[in-house]
Amino acid sequence: APAAMVRQGPRIISVVNQKGGVGKTTTTINLGTALAACGKSVLLIDLDPQGNASTGLGIPRTAREQDIYAVICDGLDIGAAVAPTVIPGMSIVPSSVNLSGAEIELVNFERREYRMQDALAGLADSYDYVLVDCPPSLGLLTLNALVASDAVLVPLQCEFYALEGLSHLLNTIKRVKKNLNPRLEIQGVVLTMFDRRNNLSEAVAADVRGHLGDKVYSTVIPRNVRISEAPSHGKPVIVYDMRCPGAQAYIHLASEVMKRERSLAA
Ligand code: ADP
Ligand code: MG
Repeated sequence: APAAMVRQGPRIISVVNQKGGVGKTTTTINLGTALAACGKSVLLIDLDPQGNASTGLGIPRTAREQDIYAVICDGLDIGAAVAPTVIPGMSIVPSSVNLSGAEIELVNFERREYRMQDALAGLADSYDYVLVDCPPSLGLLTLNALVASDAVLVPLQCEFYALEGLSHLLNTIKRVKKNLNPRLEIQGVVLTMFDRRNNLSEAVAADVRGHLGDKVYSTVIPRNVRISEAPSHGKPVIVYDMRCPGAQAYIHLASEVMKRERSLAA
């Protein structure tokens, strides 16, 4: 890439899909955990007002005062909002209910699409990766994440409507790249909640690969009850039950992501 395009500091990857319940938060938490286990320094940003990533990592509500809302809307220094997690090498900027108003408040802000990019410029460059867990919409918060990012990772649930809405998402990414952030690339698309006993899962996976080709990671995340149990213990599934198929799949996904990062960053 031309020198001007290469930004110093951490690689910023946003986990995006405007649909809820497709595995964004699960993917962000476990990808982050696996990267940290590989010795990478990871910062997770919880950009969803529901705060599922914060909850899933056991961050108590009382410890979410200094949150991403304060950073984006009140100009709090991002370093002051970073909280440790139980995972060595992984920190989080939590979200709180305050963030639910941000979508509307941001409309009247100056540089409203660049608030997050501006905030992240103040980040210590000790991080290798920043992973952003986006809300289930393509509103201003997600737009801020796309503008601040080097790459997007899209989780797609293996269900009948998987491809519905995808072209809108891909067009949004294209428009952001053209108008607001020329750096933006698609890291990849990960198929989630794959059920091998269900023929539909197989058909959807084949369909998605037919449309998106090698943008789709070869790793597929299986539907696994251990994955759905883990958040109530405040732990990533990789910590909750490292041997289960869901945890193993996320470990494989992390190695694919790192491999692509090496070629994207080159
Ligand atoms: P999103 O962030 O896109 O809304 P989540 O990651 O929160 O999606 O996942 C939605 C729900 O599905 C959560 O309850 C989560 O625990 C569960 N879930 C996610 N991935 C899997 C999986 N592979 N197997 C079983 N349950 C899963
Ligand atoms: Mg979520």
